[in-house]
Amino acid sequence: MWSDPTLSQWARACGGELQGEDQVIGTVSTDSRTVETGDVYVALKGDYFDGHNYAATALHKGASALVVEQPQADCPISQVIVPDGRQSLGHLAGLLRQAFQGQVVALTGSAGKTSTRAMLQHIFGQQPGLLATEGNFNNDIGVPKTWFRLTDRHQRVLLELGANAVGEIAWTAGFSRPHISLLLNASEAHAGGFGGLEKVREAKGEILEATDREGGCVLNRDDPAYQAWLKRAGDRRIISFGQHSRADVCLIEFQPTNAGSAFSLSLPDGDISVEWPMLGRHMALNAAAAAATAWLAGVSPLDIAEGLSRMKPQPGRLEPMAGQHGGLLIHDAYNAAPAAVKAAIDVLAEQGDDTLLILADMGELGDLAESLHREVGQYARGRIGDLWTVGTLSRHTADAFGGRHFDTLETVLAALPSRLTETTAVLVKGSRSAGMERVVETLKRKP
Ligand code: ATP
Ligand code: MG
Repeated sequence: MWSDPTLSQWARACGGELQGEDQVIGTVSTDSRTVETGDVYVALKGDYFDGHNYAATALHKGASALVVEQPQADCPISQVIVPDGRQSLGHLAGLLRQAFQGQVVALTGSAGKTSTRAMLQHIFGQQPGLLATEGNFNNDIGVPKTWFRLTDRHQRVLLELGANAVGEIAWTAGFSRPHISLLLNASEAHAGGFGGLEKVREAKGEILEATDREGGCVLNRDDPAYQAWLKRAGDRRIISFGQHSRADVCLIEFQPTNAGSAFSLSLPDGDISVEWPMLGRHMALNAAAAAATAWLAGVSPLDIAEGLSRMKPQPGRLEPMAGQHGGLLIHDAYNAAPAAVKAAIDVLAEQGDDTLLILADMGELGDLAESLHREVGQYARGRIGDLWTVGTLSRHTADAFGGRHFDTLETVLAALPSRLTETTAVLVKGSRSAGMERVVETLKRKP
C-alpha cells in the first residue's frame, strides 16, 4: 500500500485503540478465506455473517494484525479496537487520500455510472498512472477497497460512487475528497430506499459539498435538479453538459448507425465527432458528461474523442447481438430502473417498426412501484411495436401499453418462437434478480 500508514494512525483516525505493537499497514483483507501472511484482517458484520467469527482463521493464515469491534482474547498479534468495522475502512481510505498528491475524480448518479466511468477509463487510460473503480465497488466497502489498491505509480484516481440512502455519498465522497466531481443525473433508481425522488436528488448532491473547494463540479444541464445542485456547488468551478443549448459541453448531433451510433459534442474549445458501437442517445449524453469531466481534468478534445471511440458495450447493458431468429437482439438484462427502461425503449424505437420489448419487474421502487411500472408502459405506447412482460409488478406495464403479460419465464420462452420473425428487433430487460439472462441465452444465435 502506498504512503504506508500505520496501525496507530488508523486507530487515531477512527477513534479506536491499538493494542500491541504498532506496524505499517500492508494489504487489508475483509475475507478470512483470502488472507495471506502479513495482511491486516478487518472483521465486518453483515446481516448474515459476523467477521469476528473468522478472526481465528485469519490469524491461522498469517494475518499480522486484526481490526475488530470486540477485542479478541489472548490475541498474539496486534489488534485495533474500533467503534465500527465498516466505517474504519473509510477512515483508512481517508488517510491514503490525505497523503495522495495526484488528482481525484469522482462520479455519481442514478443511471449510467458504470458506463460513464468506463468512458473515462478509456480517456484517462491514455495517460499513465490511473487507478479506477473496478466492477461495482462503489459503496462504503468498495470505495475504500479501491483506495487500498493505490501505489506510488498512481497519478490519478477515478471513483464511481453509488448510494442506496441519504448520507452514503457524503461519507464515501467525504473521505475521497474529489478535485473534480461529476453528478450525472437523479431519477427513481433505488428510490424505495431513499423515500422518493427529492431524497435521491438530495443524496446525489452530497458529492458537490464533498468536492475540494478549489475543485470543479460537472452538472447535468438537462436535469430538473440542475439549479438546486448549482447552488449546492457554491463557489466551485462549474461545467455543465447536456442537450440544453447553454450546456458547456453540448450534444449537438446524434445519429444511430448500423454499428452503433455517431454524435458530435461542442466543447468550450472546439467540437468533436465520435463514432462508436454504443446504442442510444442517453449513452451519447453520458459521453458528454465524460467529456466535460475529462476536459475539466485537463485532457485535450482530441484525446477525449480518441478515448470515447475505444468504448465497447458493457456486458448486459444495451449489448447488441445476433438473434437466433435472424433479427437484432439487445441484451440489457443487467438491471432495470425506470429511467434506464425508458432509455432502452428509445433505443428500440430506433430499430424500425417490428420491435418487441421483453421486460421483467423493476425492483427497489418502494411505494412508487405500481405507478412507475404503469408509467413505463405508457411511455412505450406509440414508440415501440410490442411489449411483453413477465413477473408480478410488470403486469401494470403490460396493461398500460396493451401488451401481453406472463407469470413465469418458462411461459415467455414457450410463446416466443411463434412471435418472432427475422425482422423483429428484441430487447430484453429486467432487474438483476429477475434472471432475464435466461431469455437472452435462449434467443442468442449460437456460434
Ligand atoms: P447500477 O446502479 O445498477 O450499478 P449504473 O449507474 O452503474 O447502474 P450503468 O450500469 O452504466 O449504470 O447502466 C445501467 C442501465 O442504465 C443500463 O441499462 C443503461 O442503458 C442505462 N443508462 C445508462 N445511462 C443512462 C442515462 N444517462 N439515462 C438513462 N438510462 C441510462
Ligand atoms: Mg454500476
